[in-house]
Amino acid sequence: MKYLVLLLVLAVAIGVMMLGRRRAKPPSARVPSPAPTPAASSPKDVQSMLACAHCGVNLPRSEVVFDAGGRPYCGHEHRLLGPAR
Ligand SMILES: [Zn+2]
Repeated sequence: MKYLVLLLVLAVAIGVMMLGRRRAKPPSARVPSPAPTPAASSPKDVQSMLACAHCGVNLPRSEVVFDAGGRPYCGHEHRLLGPAR
């Protein structure tokens, strides 16, 4: 019976030591990672902008008109006029 109590105390002591070690680690691992900067979302917007092949004005991809050759234009008028020379 004596040995059983000794073993229990030893087990509890080891458990406390393990817990202490685990609790000592987080401060270094818990360093807050830098939040993603809002500027990271802007390159996407830049990528979706296209310059008119005739006048060079930048437009969102959704507002661009493409000709048969795949060139972007700001409107049907410039698409008919064709690329600038
Ligand atoms: Zn244009």
